[in-house]
Amino acid sequence: MTIRDVTIIGSGPAGLTAAIYTARANLNPLVIEGEPSSTSDQPGGQLMLTTDVENYPGFPSGIMGPELMMGLREQATRFGAEIKTEKVTKVDLSKPPFGIWTGNNDDNNAGPTYQSKSVIVATGAKSLLLNLDREVELIGHGVSTCATCDGFFFRDANIAVIGGGDSAMEEALFLTRFAASVTIIHRRDELRASKIMAARAEASDKINFRFNTVVTEYLGDDALSGLRLQDTQTGEESILDVTGCFVAIGHSPNTALFEGQLPLKPNGYLITNPDSSTTEVPGVFACGDVQDDYYRQAVTAAGSGCMAAIDAERYLESL
Ligand code: NAP
Repeated sequence: MTIRDVTIIGSGPAGLTAAIYTARANLNPLVIEGEPSSTSDQPGGQLMLTTDVENYPGFPSGIMGPELMMGLREQATRFGAEIKTEKVTKVDLSKPPFGIWTGNNDDNNAGPTYQSKSVIVATGAKSLLLNLDREVELIGHGVSTCATCDGFFFRDANIAVIGGGDSAMEEALFLTRFAASVTIIHRRDELRASKIMAARAEASDKINFRFNTVVTEYLGDDALSGLRLQDTQTGEESILDVTGCFVAIGHSPNTALFEGQLPLKPNGYLITNPDSSTTEVPGVFACGDVQDDYYRQAVTAAGSGCMAAIDAERYLESL
């Protein structure tokens, strides 16, 4: 089996930027992009579930998320990156060359599908969703998981934010810049958010709270027109007329493959060394949302993909 120089796991902005840079450094990167699915855990990552992206530099009129990802993919292959549409099922990062298993080849006794001197982990994260009917198809049509990305499209609209944590407070406060009203819907009678964030949200005259309330249905045909709510104490149902619903119930990094092999933070994100994409394992690098629980933007993911490519190139030179 050929031992690759660089294998990149993941194909969001971080993975594909790492592919562009390592391909241009003549390292013939292999990108294992994942397999199509209806969630953000698919080739291209979270931007595949986004419509207009207006904050990615260089696109003054905005660009559709999937179009941006196709452009990055094409740019990577143009310089010689090899892309495989497969899902990684197992990795062995205990010693180089690192082993990577894909598809059904996860038999412990079978050899790895690929071996590589360095690995760039760019498996991303997914926003947690409510898992209601039609939720994924309404993303980009009223349902969103990112106020920074989509808030602008809801000028003068009535909006709901789901969740009671700091993210929900932050999203709601951000949305008051555009919205006519923001209703925070929380399943309990007490917020999980820090006191300071909760106080800020409570002080806003645009924000209302609905406690002990869950969403049971998204209403509207092609675009969201309202939410069916249920009071968790009384069981009583009601309709909230909103054209925007921001689900802010947390994120989950795609790190299951690396448990026990790379150090993780208590919240499951990969740990990289400060100001670097290096991990505790020499030759293994991480970039994008899989190691970023703070910024979580496409452009910061792309920037960290560039860092990982340069770190991998220097590591290979040092061998
Ligand atoms: P979080 O603290 O885990 O809060 C998630 C919220 O969503 C909780 O209120 C939870 O309800 C609710 N929730 C979870 N699953 C739900 C479901 N299926 N249906 C309805 N509601 C559901 O997550 P987060 O707000 O994303 O924050 C994550 C971490 O980042 C926290 O440590 C937070 O402090 C930090 N953060 C900080 C800032 C800041 O300081 N500016 C901003 C954002 C995030 P329950 O309360 O009932 O569990």
